[in-house]
Amino acid sequence: MMLSDLAEAARRSGLPVDEVPGWRERGHGELSGLRTIVAHHTATPLTSRGSFPSLAIVRDGTADLPGPLAHLGLGRDGTVHVIAAGLAYHAGEVRDPDAANEWSLGIEAEHDGVTPWPLELAVAYARLCRALADHYRLPYDRVLGHKEVCAPPGRKIDPNLDMDDFRDRIRTLDPTPEPG
Ligand SMILES: [Zn+2]
Repeated sequence: MMLSDLAEAARRSGLPVDEVPGWRERGHGELSGLRTIVAHHTATPLTSRGSFPSLAIVRDGTADLPGPLAHLGLGRDGTVHVIAAGLAYHAGEVRDPDAANEWSLGIEAEHDGVTPWPLELAVAYARLCRALADHYRLPYDRVLGHKEVCAPPGRKIDPNLDMDDFRDRIRTLDPTPEPG
């Protein structure tokens, strides 16, 4: 499947949405389905300026790994960048097969992975995940951190959020407004 309604799903969060040109066709083929939302952080240093300096890497990839490397990017200012509707190389080796690239939606939030998360950014991240889970009818416990699904355990540390607290926040947010 292609997540052809991803921009609409993201808009239900109430956050500003930037549709990156070409997102509808971008991907390494199609997803097999959608069972998990995997949260990441970019680990891009704070010295990189702007709201989402990781856009080019997430969209185009690196010398070792072609993009897209996630479906969505969340900028420091809370803007959601819609990058790819097809399969993205974000999860790598996983111990939870339902979180594999074929079955999961990856979000890269712009954060250095070191400093505390600005509350507004953490709330925006939860709001986005809540809207996506509601839109795609996924239970909130299927919002997982990369560090929770990676194989072997400890291969990844992102996102440096307490994921139980993060899911509690998702559950207690106001309901996602209906589309339209
Ligand atoms: Zn990650």
